[in-house]
Amino acid sequence: MYILKEGTQREQGRNARSNNIQASRAIANAVRSTLGPRGMDKMLVDTMGDVVITNDGATILDEIDVQHPAAKMVIEVAETQDEACGDGTTTAVVLAGALLRHAEDLSEDVHATRITRGFRLAAQRAIEILHEEAFDIDDETLEHVARTAMASKASSDYANVLAPLVVDAVQAVAETTPHGESVDPDDIQIVTQQGGSVEETELVEGIILSKERVHSGMPESIQEARIALLDTPIEIRETEVDAQIQITDPNQLETFLDEEESQLRRIVDTIKEAGANVVFCQKGIDDLAQHFLAKEGIYAVRRVKKSDIQHLARATGASITSDVASLTEEDLGQSGWVEERRFGDDTFTFVTECPDARSVSLLVRGGTEHVTQEAERTLEDAIGATSVAFADGAILPGGGAPDIEVALRLREYAGKIGGREQLAIEAFADAIEVIPRTLAENAGHDAIETLVDLRSEHEKGRTTIGVDIEGRSVADMAEANVWDPLRVKAQALESATDVASLVLRIDDVIAAQGFGSDDEDGDDFDF
Ligand code: ADP
Ligand code: MG
Repeated sequence: MYILKEGTQREQGRNARSNNIQASRAIANAVRSTLGPRGMDKMLVDTMGDVVITNDGATILDEIDVQHPAAKMVIEVAETQDEACGDGTTTAVVLAGALLRHAEDLSEDVHATRITRGFRLAAQRAIEILHEEAFDIDDETLEHVARTAMASKASSDYANVLAPLVVDAVQAVAETTPHGESVDPDDIQIVTQQGGSVEETELVEGIILSKERVHSGMPESIQEARIALLDTPIEIRETEVDAQIQITDPNQLETFLDEEESQLRRIVDTIKEAGANVVFCQKGIDDLAQHFLAKEGIYAVRRVKKSDIQHLARATGASITSDVASLTEEDLGQSGWVEERRFGDDTFTFVTECPDARSVSLLVRGGTEHVTQEAERTLEDAIGATSVAFADGAILPGGGAPDIEVALRLREYAGKIGGREQLAIEAFADAIEVIPRTLAENAGHDAIETLVDLRSEHEKGRTTIGVDIEGRSVADMAEANVWDPLRVKAQALESATDVASLVLRIDDVIAAQGFGSDDEDGDDFDF
Protein backbone atom coordinates (compact mmCIF):
# COMPACT_ATOMS: atom_id res chain seq x y z
CA MET A 1 0.00 0.00 0.00
CA TYR A 2 1.39 3.38 -0.98
CA ILE A 3 0.71 6.23 1.35
CA LEU A 4 3.06 8.75 -0.13
CA LYS A 5 2.89 9.71 -3.75
CA GLU A 6 5.30 7.91 -5.99
CA GLY A 7 8.66 9.62 -6.26
CA THR A 8 8.44 11.24 -2.83
CA GLN A 9 11.80 11.18 -1.08
CA ARG A 10 11.95 10.38 2.55
CA GLU A 11 14.71 10.43 5.12
CA GLN A 12 14.22 9.35 8.68
CA GLY A 13 15.85 9.19 12.07
CA ARG A 14 19.53 9.78 12.54
CA ASN A 15 20.15 10.13 8.85
CA ALA A 16 17.68 12.97 8.46
CA ARG A 17 19.00 14.78 11.50
CA SER A 18 22.60 14.34 10.56
CA ASN A 19 22.02 15.67 7.03
CA ASN A 20 20.19 18.69 8.38
CA ILE A 21 22.98 19.39 10.85
CA GLN A 22 25.63 19.11 8.14
CA ALA A 23 23.76 21.53 5.91
CA SER A 24 23.29 24.05 8.72
CA ARG A 25 26.91 23.84 9.72
CA ALA A 26 27.98 24.40 6.16
CA ILE A 27 26.20 27.75 6.28
CA ALA A 28 27.88 28.68 9.54
CA ASN A 29 31.27 27.74 8.12
CA ALA A 30 30.65 29.92 5.10
CA VAL A 31 30.55 33.08 7.20
CA ARG A 32 32.85 32.11 10.06
CA SER A 33 35.97 33.62 8.57
CA THR A 34 34.32 37.05 8.34
CA LEU A 35 33.66 37.41 12.09
CA GLY A 36 35.29 40.31 13.85
CA PRO A 37 37.64 43.13 12.88
CA ARG A 38 40.19 40.73 11.47
CA GLY A 39 37.62 38.82 9.46
CA MET A 40 38.24 38.46 5.75
CA ASP A 41 36.02 39.69 2.94
CA LYS A 42 34.19 37.55 0.46
CA MET A 43 33.75 38.20 -3.21
CA LEU A 44 30.41 37.01 -4.48
CA VAL A 45 29.65 36.69 -8.15
CA ASP A 46 26.07 36.14 -9.22
CA THR A 47 24.76 34.45 -12.36
CA MET A 48 24.74 37.80 -14.14
CA GLY A 49 28.42 38.30 -13.34
CA ASP A 50 27.75 41.11 -10.87
CA VAL A 51 30.29 41.26 -8.09
CA VAL A 52 29.71 42.07 -4.44
CA ILE A 53 32.65 42.33 -2.05
CA THR A 54 31.56 42.15 1.55
CA ASN A 55 32.27 41.08 5.06
CA ASP A 56 28.65 41.30 6.11
CA GLY A 57 27.15 37.97 7.14
CA ALA A 58 23.61 38.92 6.19
CA THR A 59 24.69 40.09 2.76
CA ILE A 60 26.67 36.93 2.06
CA LEU A 61 23.79 34.70 3.04
CA ASP A 62 21.40 36.85 1.06
CA GLU A 63 23.49 36.54 -2.09
CA ILE A 64 24.21 32.83 -2.07
CA ASP A 65 21.65 30.45 -3.46
CA VAL A 66 20.84 27.75 -0.97
CA GLN A 67 18.62 24.79 -1.63
CA HIS A 68 18.72 22.70 1.50
CA PRO A 69 15.71 23.42 3.73
CA ALA A 70 17.64 23.17 7.00
CA ALA A 71 20.31 25.49 5.64
CA LYS A 72 17.55 27.92 4.74
CA MET A 73 16.34 27.87 8.33
CA VAL A 74 19.78 29.02 9.45
CA ILE A 75 19.75 31.80 6.88
CA GLU A 76 16.45 32.94 8.33
CA VAL A 77 18.23 33.40 11.66
CA ALA A 78 20.46 35.94 9.98
CA GLU A 79 17.42 37.71 8.57
CA THR A 80 15.66 37.78 11.95
CA GLN A 81 18.78 39.12 13.60
CA ASP A 82 19.20 41.76 10.92
CA GLU A 83 15.62 42.92 11.29
CA ALA A 84 15.68 42.94 15.08
CA CYS A 85 19.06 44.61 15.64
CA GLY A 86 20.71 45.41 12.31
CA ASP A 87 23.91 43.80 13.58
CA GLY A 88 25.19 40.52 14.97
CA THR A 89 24.17 38.34 12.04
CA THR A 90 27.47 36.48 11.75
CA THR A 91 27.49 35.89 15.49
CA ALA A 92 23.98 34.39 15.39
CA VAL A 93 24.76 32.05 12.50
CA VAL A 94 28.16 30.94 13.81
CA LEU A 95 26.56 30.26 17.19
CA ALA A 96 23.78 28.20 15.63
CA GLY A 97 26.39 26.14 13.79
CA ALA A 98 28.36 25.52 16.99
CA LEU A 99 25.25 24.53 18.95
CA LEU A 100 24.39 21.98 16.28
CA ARG A 101 27.92 20.59 16.19
CA HIS A 102 27.94 20.02 19.94
CA ALA A 103 24.41 18.64 19.86
CA GLU A 104 25.44 16.15 17.22
CA ASP A 105 28.27 14.83 19.37
CA LEU A 106 25.83 14.49 22.23
CA SER A 107 23.05 12.86 20.25
CA GLU A 108 24.73 9.46 20.53
CA ASP A 109 23.93 9.45 24.23
CA VAL A 110 21.11 11.92 24.78
CA HIS A 111 17.72 12.06 23.08
CA ALA A 112 17.08 15.12 20.93
CA THR A 113 14.19 16.37 23.07
CA ARG A 114 16.45 16.22 26.13
CA ILE A 115 19.10 18.21 24.29
CA THR A 116 16.65 20.87 23.21
CA ARG A 117 15.28 21.12 26.73
CA GLY A 118 18.80 21.54 28.09
CA PHE A 119 19.53 24.17 25.44
CA ARG A 120 16.39 26.09 26.41
CA LEU A 121 17.40 26.14 30.07
CA ALA A 122 20.93 27.16 29.14
CA ALA A 123 19.71 29.96 26.88
CA GLN A 124 17.41 31.35 29.58
CA ARG A 125 20.20 31.33 32.13
CA ALA A 126 22.63 32.80 29.58
CA ILE A 127 20.32 35.74 28.89
CA GLU A 128 20.06 36.38 32.63
CA ILE A 129 23.84 36.37 32.89
CA LEU A 130 24.14 38.79 29.97
CA HIS A 131 21.76 41.17 31.73
CA GLU A 132 23.79 40.89 34.94
CA GLU A 133 26.98 41.64 33.04
CA ALA A 134 25.55 44.65 31.17
CA PHE A 135 26.82 48.21 31.64
CA ASP A 136 24.91 51.47 31.38
CA ILE A 137 25.62 53.58 28.38
CA ASP A 138 26.81 57.19 28.18
CA ASP A 139 27.51 59.56 25.27
CA GLU A 140 31.10 58.50 24.95
CA THR A 141 30.45 54.77 24.95
CA LEU A 142 27.70 55.26 22.38
CA GLU A 143 30.32 56.33 19.89
CA HIS A 144 32.39 53.27 20.78
CA VAL A 145 29.39 51.05 20.08
CA ALA A 146 29.22 52.59 16.61
CA ARG A 147 32.95 52.04 16.15
CA THR A 148 32.84 48.43 17.32
CA ALA A 149 30.00 47.68 14.92
CA MET A 150 32.00 49.24 12.09
CA ALA A 151 35.28 47.66 13.08
CA SER A 152 34.75 44.49 11.13
CA LYS A 153 33.87 46.06 7.82
CA ALA A 154 36.04 47.04 4.92
CA SER A 155 35.75 50.75 5.50
CA SER A 156 36.60 50.59 9.19
CA ASP A 157 39.45 52.99 8.36
CA TYR A 158 36.77 55.62 8.09
CA ALA A 159 35.26 54.87 11.49
CA ASN A 160 36.77 58.09 12.85
CA VAL A 161 34.60 60.10 10.50
CA LEU A 162 31.55 57.87 10.32
CA ALA A 163 31.06 56.90 13.98
CA PRO A 164 30.30 60.46 15.19
CA LEU A 165 27.91 60.93 12.26
CA VAL A 166 26.06 57.76 13.22
CA VAL A 167 25.73 58.92 16.83
CA ASP A 168 24.46 62.33 15.73
CA ALA A 169 21.97 60.72 13.36
CA VAL A 170 20.65 58.31 15.98
CA GLN A 171 20.28 61.05 18.57
CA ALA A 172 18.54 63.29 16.05
CA VAL A 173 15.83 60.73 15.28
CA ALA A 174 15.39 59.46 18.84
CA GLU A 175 11.99 59.99 20.38
CA THR A 176 11.28 60.03 24.07
CA THR A 177 8.32 57.79 24.83
CA PRO A 178 6.80 56.85 28.18
CA HIS A 179 8.85 53.63 27.92
CA GLY A 180 12.11 55.47 27.40
CA GLU A 181 13.99 56.36 24.27
CA SER A 182 12.92 54.86 21.01
CA VAL A 183 14.80 54.97 17.73
CA ASP A 184 13.51 53.88 14.36
CA PRO A 185 16.53 53.25 12.13
CA ASP A 186 14.26 53.75 9.12
CA ASP A 187 14.20 57.45 9.94
CA ILE A 188 17.85 57.54 8.95
CA GLN A 189 18.11 57.45 5.23
CA ILE A 190 21.32 56.43 3.50
CA VAL A 191 22.01 57.85 0.04
CA THR A 192 25.11 56.82 -1.83
CA GLN A 193 27.03 58.83 -4.32
CA GLN A 194 30.08 57.73 -6.22
CA GLY A 195 32.89 60.20 -6.35
CA GLY A 196 34.87 61.85 -3.62
CA SER A 197 35.92 59.78 -0.63
CA VAL A 198 34.17 58.18 2.31
CA GLU A 199 35.63 60.92 4.55
CA GLU A 200 33.39 63.40 2.73
CA THR A 201 30.23 61.58 3.87
CA GLU A 202 27.90 64.09 5.45
CA LEU A 203 24.88 64.15 7.69
CA VAL A 204 21.99 66.17 6.31
CA GLU A 205 19.03 67.12 8.42
CA GLY A 206 16.26 66.32 6.04
CA ILE A 207 15.69 64.13 3.04
CA ILE A 208 17.80 63.57 -0.04
CA LEU A 209 16.30 62.31 -3.30
CA SER A 210 18.61 61.13 -6.03
CA LYS A 211 16.44 63.04 -8.50
CA GLU A 212 16.63 66.29 -10.35
CA ARG A 213 13.87 68.76 -11.16
CA VAL A 214 12.03 67.78 -14.33
CA HIS A 215 12.48 71.02 -16.28
CA SER A 216 15.49 73.32 -16.48
CA GLY A 217 13.12 76.31 -16.48
CA MET A 218 12.16 75.57 -12.90
CA PRO A 219 13.90 77.38 -10.04
CA GLU A 220 16.94 75.55 -8.67
CA SER A 221 16.01 76.24 -5.10
CA ILE A 222 12.90 77.19 -3.21
CA GLN A 223 12.90 78.82 0.17
CA GLU A 224 9.92 78.18 2.45
CA ALA A 225 8.77 75.31 0.36
CA ARG A 226 5.09 74.38 0.34
CA ILE A 227 5.12 70.80 -0.79
CA ALA A 228 2.51 68.71 -2.61
CA LEU A 229 2.94 64.93 -2.70
CA LEU A 230 1.15 63.11 -5.49
CA ASP A 231 0.89 59.42 -6.12
CA THR A 232 -0.85 59.86 -9.47
CA PRO A 233 0.63 61.09 -12.74
CA ILE A 234 0.19 64.63 -13.98
CA GLU A 235 -1.01 63.51 -17.36
CA ILE A 236 -4.19 63.38 -19.32
CA ARG A 237 -6.19 60.56 -17.93
CA GLU A 238 -6.20 57.65 -20.37
CA THR A 239 -9.65 56.37 -21.18
CA GLU A 240 -10.44 53.04 -19.62
CA VAL A 241 -11.44 51.44 -22.90
CA ASP A 242 -9.39 51.74 -26.04
CA ALA A 243 -11.21 54.51 -27.76
CA GLN A 244 -10.65 55.60 -31.28
CA ILE A 245 -11.23 59.17 -32.07
CA GLN A 246 -12.16 59.89 -35.61
CA ILE A 247 -11.17 63.27 -36.69
CA THR A 248 -12.59 64.35 -39.96
CA ASP A 249 -11.72 67.97 -40.05
CA PRO A 250 -8.52 69.83 -39.01
CA ASN A 251 -10.50 72.11 -36.67
CA GLN A 252 -11.60 69.10 -34.71
CA LEU A 253 -7.96 68.09 -34.15
CA GLU A 254 -7.22 71.52 -32.80
CA THR A 255 -10.15 71.43 -30.44
CA PHE A 256 -9.03 68.02 -29.27
CA LEU A 257 -5.47 69.22 -28.57
CA ASP A 258 -6.78 72.40 -26.98
CA GLU A 259 -8.91 70.28 -24.71
CA GLU A 260 -5.84 68.23 -23.63
CA GLU A 261 -3.88 71.38 -23.04
CA SER A 262 -6.56 72.97 -20.95
CA GLN A 263 -6.95 69.83 -18.86
CA LEU A 264 -3.26 69.96 -17.97
CA ARG A 265 -3.55 73.71 -17.44
CA ARG A 266 -6.37 73.10 -14.96
CA ILE A 267 -4.27 70.57 -13.01
CA VAL A 268 -1.37 72.99 -12.76
CA ASP A 269 -3.75 75.78 -11.74
CA THR A 270 -5.15 73.63 -8.94
CA ILE A 271 -1.63 72.97 -7.68
CA LYS A 272 -0.84 76.65 -7.80
CA GLU A 273 -4.10 77.71 -6.17
CA ALA A 274 -3.47 75.29 -3.32
CA GLY A 275 -0.32 77.30 -2.73
CA ALA A 276 2.26 74.68 -3.62
CA ASN A 277 5.66 75.71 -4.93
CA VAL A 278 7.11 72.21 -4.91
CA VAL A 279 5.60 69.00 -6.31
CA PHE A 280 6.92 65.49 -5.72
CA CYS A 281 5.15 63.07 -7.99
CA GLN A 282 5.41 59.32 -7.69
CA LYS A 283 4.43 58.92 -11.34
CA GLY A 284 5.17 60.73 -14.57
CA ILE A 285 4.62 64.39 -15.45
CA ASP A 286 3.52 65.25 -18.98
CA ASP A 287 5.92 67.46 -20.99
CA LEU A 288 3.36 70.17 -21.39
CA ALA A 289 2.53 70.08 -17.68
CA GLN A 290 6.25 70.41 -16.94
CA HIS A 291 6.32 73.51 -19.05
CA PHE A 292 3.29 75.00 -17.24
CA LEU A 293 4.77 74.16 -13.84
CA ALA A 294 8.07 75.78 -14.82
CA LYS A 295 6.24 78.91 -15.92
CA GLU A 296 4.57 79.11 -12.52
CA GLY A 297 7.97 78.83 -10.83
CA ILE A 298 7.09 75.48 -9.28
CA TYR A 299 9.88 72.98 -8.56
CA ALA A 300 8.72 69.52 -9.62
CA VAL A 301 10.24 66.05 -9.43
CA ARG A 302 8.75 63.00 -11.10
CA ARG A 303 8.96 59.24 -10.54
CA VAL A 304 9.90 59.61 -6.87
CA LYS A 305 10.12 56.24 -5.12
CA LYS A 306 7.08 55.33 -3.05
CA SER A 307 9.21 54.92 0.07
CA ASP A 308 10.64 58.40 -0.48
CA ILE A 309 7.15 59.86 -0.85
CA GLN A 310 6.21 58.27 2.47
CA HIS A 311 9.36 59.61 4.05
CA LEU A 312 8.59 63.07 2.72
CA ALA A 313 5.06 62.86 4.07
CA ARG A 314 6.38 62.23 7.57
CA ALA A 315 9.12 64.78 7.45
CA THR A 316 7.14 67.65 5.93
CA GLY A 317 3.68 66.90 7.27
CA ALA A 318 2.14 66.69 3.79
CA SER A 319 -0.60 64.23 2.98
CA ILE A 320 -0.23 62.11 -0.12
CA THR A 321 -2.84 63.07 -2.71
CA SER A 322 -4.29 60.67 -5.25
CA ASP A 323 -6.66 63.12 -6.88
CA VAL A 324 -4.95 66.30 -7.99
CA ALA A 325 -8.28 68.03 -8.66
CA SER A 326 -9.07 67.95 -4.95
CA LEU A 327 -5.68 69.21 -3.77
CA THR A 328 -6.00 71.93 -1.13
CA GLU A 329 -3.72 73.95 1.08
CA GLU A 330 -4.28 71.49 3.91
CA ASP A 331 -2.64 68.71 1.96
CA LEU A 332 0.63 70.58 1.65
CA GLY A 333 3.70 70.02 3.73
CA GLN A 334 6.49 72.42 4.52
CA SER A 335 10.23 72.69 4.63
CA GLY A 336 12.73 75.50 4.93
CA TRP A 337 14.43 74.64 1.68
CA VAL A 338 14.07 72.46 -1.39
CA GLU A 339 17.07 72.66 -3.65
CA GLU A 340 18.94 70.89 -6.35
CA ARG A 341 22.59 70.04 -5.70
CA ARG A 342 25.10 68.48 -8.02
CA PHE A 343 27.93 66.17 -7.01
CA GLY A 344 30.03 65.06 -9.96
CA ASP A 345 27.65 63.63 -12.51
CA ASP A 346 24.83 63.08 -10.06
CA THR A 347 22.07 65.47 -9.23
CA PHE A 348 20.10 65.36 -6.00
CA THR A 349 17.16 67.17 -4.51
CA PHE A 350 17.69 68.17 -0.89
CA VAL A 351 14.68 68.81 1.31
CA THR A 352 16.01 70.43 4.46
CA GLU A 353 14.80 72.27 7.54
CA CYS A 354 11.73 70.10 7.81
CA PRO A 355 9.26 70.67 10.66
CA ASP A 356 9.84 67.08 11.77
CA ALA A 357 13.54 67.11 12.54
CA ARG A 358 13.37 63.40 13.14
CA SER A 359 14.34 62.70 9.59
CA VAL A 360 17.99 62.72 8.68
CA SER A 361 20.05 61.44 5.80
CA LEU A 362 23.59 60.31 5.40
CA LEU A 363 25.04 61.15 2.03
CA VAL A 364 27.72 58.51 1.58
CA ARG A 365 30.53 59.28 -0.80
CA GLY A 366 33.18 56.90 -2.05
CA GLY A 367 35.59 56.35 -4.88
CA THR A 368 33.96 53.31 -6.47
CA GLU A 369 30.65 51.52 -6.34
CA HIS A 370 32.12 48.73 -4.20
CA VAL A 371 33.43 51.22 -1.69
CA THR A 372 30.14 53.12 -1.37
CA GLN A 373 28.16 49.88 -1.14
CA GLU A 374 30.29 48.45 1.63
CA ALA A 375 30.28 51.83 3.39
CA GLU A 376 26.49 51.74 3.23
CA ARG A 377 26.37 48.26 4.77
CA THR A 378 28.84 49.34 7.44
CA LEU A 379 26.65 52.31 8.26
CA GLU A 380 23.53 50.16 8.39
CA ASP A 381 25.16 47.86 10.95
CA ALA A 382 26.45 50.78 12.97
CA ILE A 383 23.06 52.55 12.87
CA GLY A 384 21.34 49.33 13.97
CA ALA A 385 23.75 48.70 16.83
CA THR A 386 23.83 52.31 17.98
CA SER A 387 20.03 52.60 17.85
CA VAL A 388 19.41 49.58 20.05
CA ALA A 389 22.22 50.54 22.43
CA PHE A 390 20.75 54.03 22.75
CA ALA A 391 17.18 52.79 23.15
CA ASP A 392 18.05 50.14 25.75
CA GLY A 393 20.87 52.05 27.43
CA ALA A 394 22.64 48.73 27.99
CA ILE A 395 25.88 47.43 26.53
CA LEU A 396 28.31 44.57 26.97
CA PRO A 397 32.06 44.37 26.50
CA GLY A 398 32.91 42.88 23.08
CA GLY A 399 35.64 40.57 21.91
CA GLY A 400 33.91 37.46 23.24
CA ALA A 401 34.20 38.57 26.88
CA PRO A 402 30.55 37.93 27.77
CA ASP A 403 30.60 34.61 25.94
CA ILE A 404 33.45 33.34 28.12
CA GLU A 405 31.66 34.61 31.21
CA VAL A 406 28.42 32.90 30.18
CA ALA A 407 30.26 29.63 29.45
CA LEU A 408 31.97 29.70 32.82
CA ARG A 409 28.81 30.35 34.77
CA LEU A 410 26.72 27.91 32.73
CA ARG A 411 29.09 25.10 33.67
CA GLU A 412 28.40 25.89 37.35
CA TYR A 413 24.68 26.04 36.65
CA ALA A 414 24.73 22.70 34.78
CA GLY A 415 25.89 20.92 37.93
CA LYS A 416 22.81 22.16 39.77
CA ILE A 417 20.44 20.87 37.10
CA GLY A 418 21.93 17.39 36.82
CA GLY A 419 20.52 14.59 34.67
CA ARG A 420 20.88 14.41 30.93
CA GLU A 421 20.08 18.10 30.68
CA GLN A 422 23.33 18.80 32.49
CA LEU A 423 25.21 17.40 29.51
CA ALA A 424 23.21 19.58 27.13
CA ILE A 425 23.89 22.69 29.21
CA GLU A 426 27.59 21.87 29.23
CA ALA A 427 27.50 21.39 25.48
CA PHE A 428 25.84 24.80 25.19
CA ALA A 429 28.62 26.32 27.29
CA ASP A 430 31.24 24.76 25.00
CA ALA A 431 29.36 25.96 21.94
CA ILE A 432 29.13 29.60 22.99
CA GLU A 433 32.91 29.77 23.24
CA VAL A 434 32.93 29.60 19.45
CA ILE A 435 32.71 33.41 19.36
CA PRO A 436 36.00 34.19 21.19
CA ARG A 437 37.58 31.17 19.53
CA THR A 438 36.69 32.41 16.06
CA LEU A 439 37.71 36.00 16.83
CA ALA A 440 41.09 34.66 17.96
CA GLU A 441 41.48 32.40 14.93
CA ASN A 442 40.60 35.20 12.55
CA ALA A 443 43.12 37.45 14.26
CA GLY A 444 45.79 34.82 13.67
CA HIS A 445 46.14 33.84 17.34
CA ASP A 446 46.62 30.39 18.75
CA ALA A 447 42.94 29.91 19.59
CA ILE A 448 43.46 27.26 22.28
CA GLU A 449 45.99 29.39 24.09
CA THR A 450 43.72 32.44 23.94
CA LEU A 451 40.77 30.45 25.30
CA VAL A 452 42.88 29.17 28.19
CA ASP A 453 43.97 32.74 28.99
CA LEU A 454 40.42 34.02 28.76
CA ARG A 455 39.05 31.34 31.06
CA SER A 456 41.71 31.90 33.67
CA GLU A 457 41.13 35.68 33.67
CA HIS A 458 37.38 35.22 34.02
CA GLU A 459 37.87 32.70 36.81
CA LYS A 460 39.71 35.47 38.62
CA GLY A 461 36.62 37.63 38.25
CA ARG A 462 37.91 39.85 35.46
CA THR A 463 34.70 39.74 33.50
CA THR A 464 35.57 42.27 30.81
CA ILE A 465 38.61 40.44 29.42
CA GLY A 466 38.18 39.53 25.76
CA VAL A 467 40.19 38.72 22.68
CA ASP A 468 42.86 41.29 21.92
CA ILE A 469 42.93 41.49 18.17
CA GLU A 470 45.85 43.93 18.20
CA GLY A 471 48.11 42.08 20.63
CA ARG A 472 48.80 38.40 21.03
CA SER A 473 46.12 37.15 23.35
CA VAL A 474 43.70 38.91 25.65
CA ALA A 475 42.89 42.45 26.77
CA ASP A 476 40.37 44.39 28.83
CA MET A 477 37.57 45.29 26.44
CA ALA A 478 36.31 48.09 28.70
CA GLU A 479 39.72 49.73 28.49
CA ALA A 480 39.99 49.07 24.78
CA ASN A 481 36.50 50.61 24.37
CA VAL A 482 35.08 47.63 22.50
CA TRP A 483 31.35 47.59 23.25
CA ASP A 484 28.42 45.70 21.78
CA PRO A 485 24.74 46.38 22.54
CA LEU A 486 23.19 43.97 25.03
CA ARG A 487 20.26 43.39 22.70
CA VAL A 488 22.48 42.29 19.82
CA LYS A 489 24.14 39.61 21.94
CA ALA A 490 20.93 38.47 23.60
CA GLN A 491 18.99 38.27 20.35
CA ALA A 492 21.81 36.34 18.63
CA LEU A 493 21.84 33.84 21.44
CA GLU A 494 18.10 33.43 21.44
CA SER A 495 17.64 32.99 17.73
CA ALA A 496 20.61 30.64 17.44
CA THR A 497 19.09 28.45 20.16
CA ASP A 498 15.71 28.54 18.45
CA VAL A 499 16.99 27.35 15.11
CA ALA A 500 19.29 24.72 16.62
CA SER A 501 16.31 23.29 18.53
CA LEU A 502 14.15 23.34 15.42
CA VAL A 503 16.74 21.50 13.36
CA LEU A 504 17.38 18.99 16.15
CA ARG A 505 13.75 18.06 16.57
CA ILE A 506 13.32 17.06 12.94
CA ASP A 507 13.71 13.33 12.44
CA ASP A 508 11.70 12.85 9.31
CA VAL A 509 12.07 14.69 6.05
CA ILE A 510 9.48 14.05 3.37
CA ALA A 511 10.17 15.85 0.14
CA ALA A 512 7.78 15.88 -2.75
CA GLN A 513 8.99 14.96 -6.17
CA GLY A 514 9.40 17.87 -8.51
CA PHE A 515 10.89 20.07 -5.81
CA GLY A 516 14.08 19.32 -7.68
CA SER A 517 16.78 21.38 -9.30
CA ASP A 518 14.76 22.02 -12.44
CA ASP A 519 12.72 24.50 -10.45
CA GLU A 520 13.74 27.87 -11.82
CA ASP A 521 13.14 30.10 -8.84
CA GLY A 522 15.81 28.36 -6.77
CA ASP A 523 13.39 28.36 -3.90
CA ASP A 524 13.10 24.64 -3.68
CA PHE A 525 13.98 21.52 -1.79
CA ASP A 526 16.78 19.37 -3.06
CA PHE A 527 18.55 16.47 -1.43
P1 ADP B 1 28.38 40.33 13.35
O1 ADP B 1 27.81 40.15 12.00
O2 ADP B 1 28.00 39.23 14.27
O3 ADP B 1 28.14 41.68 13.92
P2 ADP B 1 31.12 41.15 13.07
O4 ADP B 1 32.01 40.71 11.96
O5 ADP B 1 30.61 42.54 13.05
O6 ADP B 1 29.94 40.13 13.16
O7 ADP B 1 31.92 40.90 14.43
C1 ADP B 1 31.37 41.22 15.68
C2 ADP B 1 32.27 40.74 16.77
O8 ADP B 1 33.55 41.37 16.69
C3 ADP B 1 31.70 41.08 18.13
O9 ADP B 1 31.79 39.95 18.96
C4 ADP B 1 32.59 42.21 18.62
O10 ADP B 1 32.68 42.26 20.02
C5 ADP B 1 33.90 41.83 17.98
N1 ADP B 1 34.82 42.98 17.88
C6 ADP B 1 34.63 44.13 17.21
N2 ADP B 1 35.68 44.97 17.38
C7 ADP B 1 36.56 44.33 18.18
C8 ADP B 1 37.85 44.66 18.72
N3 ADP B 1 38.43 45.81 18.47
N4 ADP B 1 38.46 43.74 19.51
C9 ADP B 1 37.88 42.55 19.76
N5 ADP B 1 36.67 42.18 19.27
C10 ADP B 1 36.02 43.04 18.50
MG1 MG C 1 28.78 43.53 13.27
